[in-house]
Amino acid sequence: MVDVVRAVRDAVGSEIMVAMDAHWKYANGAIKLAQAPEPFDLLWLEDPVPPENIEAQRHVTHSTRTPICTGENLYRKHGYRELIEKQAARIIAPDIPKMGGLAEAKKVADHADLYCIPIAPRNVASPIATVAGSHVCAGINNFLVIEYHAHDVEWWSDLVKEKPPIDKGFIRIEDRPGPGPRLNEEAARAHLKPGSSFFGDKPHG
Ligand SMILES: [Mg+2]
Repeated sequence: MVDVVRAVRDAVGSEIMVAMDAHWKYANGAIKLAQAPEPFDLLWLEDPVPPENIEAQRHVTHSTRTPICTGENLYRKHGYRELIEKQAARIIAPDIPKMGGLAEAKKVADHADLYCIPIAPRNVASPIATVAGSHVCAGINNFLVIEYHAHDVEWWSDLVKEKPPIDKGFIRIEDRPGPGPRLNEEAARAHLKPGSSFFGDKPHG
């Protein structure tokens, strides 16, 4: 993984932010993994330890200069309390639709702000949830970045009637009521996961 970080840093130079996701796989050796890429100035190392043990998380976070990011597996404001108050992560990544929604994410962000912890929402959502989540990001003091990796999903933008307001890495927030983009129901139905039902329809079977 360090070889990968080195190769990416060499390719993009020092100005581009680089982060790495360890996907909870390294409970043993997590400290070594967190310390090894210190020379490459990562924006963060994400999820080096499984999410269940806040003390272990804290131990790894305080062992390294690499900022440790976690939080996509926690729910509601209570789920984040211990992580924040023990300062067990240097960056917190709530999955806004999954953890409880816009208002709940705002509460978590404000709580984290008291401890000088920035927020970088995990985001694997549609254009609607991405823009809605961005409204939270625009309304908090400690926003860092929001995840976006739908570049490779060719029909992602088709899910809404308006073009998603993303340009060169920035999301433009409208000042009118509502999140902005409206669902293109036809496109959403066409890409429905087999076996799942559409919002508002009667469940199958
Ligand atoms: Mg992640």
